[in-house]
Amino acid sequence: MKSSDFDFLLEQDLPRGALYVVATPIGNMGDITLRALHVLNLVDGIACEDTRHSAMLLNQFEIRKPLIALHEHNEIEGAKALIKNLQNQERWAYISDAGTPGISDPGVKLVNEVTRAGFRVIPIPGASAIVAAVSVAGSSLAQSEGRFQFLGFLSTQTKEFDLALNLIATSPLASIFYETPHRIEKTLLRLYETLSPDRLVFIARELSKKFEELVHIRADAIPKWLENANLKGEFVVIVSGCALVLGDFANGEVSRLAKMLTPYLGSKELSEILADYFQLSKKESYQIALKAKPDKIK
Ligand code: SAM
Repeated sequence: MKSSDFDFLLEQDLPRGALYVVATPIGNMGDITLRALHVLNLVDGIACEDTRHSAMLLNQFEIRKPLIALHEHNEIEGAKALIKNLQNQERWAYISDAGTPGISDPGVKLVNEVTRAGFRVIPIPGASAIVAAVSVAGSSLAQSEGRFQFLGFLSTQTKEFDLALNLIATSPLASIFYETPHRIEKTLLRLYETLSPDRLVFIARELSKKFEELVHIRADAIPKWLENANLKGEFVVIVSGCALVLGDFANGEVSRLAKMLTPYLGSKELSEILADYFQLSKKESYQIALKAKPDKIK
């Protein structure tokens, strides 16, 4: 590919002494972007999560550049080495094994260090499993009008894992997390035990790959689905947000927020904010707003 074929690639200035954070495909090589190829061809070197893995991707597109390894175990030291190259007015790219760096991947500390050192960090957007899954989740996002929280990988520690399950069960936002093939069955069964039966679960497996599978089920159908499920590959799971019932939350999140805000807002304003944020009916939110007022001004 010659840059001159696509003038728009030259529209954004790609300065020297900058780090380019470049998204790569999550499965199908066709999802590399023109800009990713342009920037990877332009830079002086590429830092990668795993040099052998990235060499295969780069070979495919005949990109030959110096590579350095920068992964979760050397992210800070790797950042320091890379900053020296930026001081020499070089352009460097960072790519993770798949998708967008910093999304459950190294990149966050690197970007922080490079920014703190005073250099520009420029995103070259592209594929990410969470974005692909969100774009086709439909029903599991409808309850929360498309709003969601991303939990990355759930913790392997029992206590934190249980906290995450609780967060998923009680949040009015849809919850999205990544899961590995060896943990997916256990995690789905724990969701089945924790969630109310009608919560919607969307399971996206092997996005953009040959055996892509997209499954919409209710929480109470999880065990039945698992009986014949293929659990190989990579997973994104989306759980719909919970419908709030006034009684459930009388002493919970909604009323806590209402009490915090009530000194500053009138009941009507407060109830509008609560209705919008927690997806409550006007009647429910107004009752909570009234309840949150200290007795003397009710
Ligand atoms: N940075 C990547 C991104 O932007 O999506 C995520 C990297 S994280 C180390 C890998 C996890 O992302 C996998 O275990 C899986 O949960 C999810 N994932 C990555 N590729 C996927 C795919 N093609 N289909 C489904 N999930 C995928």
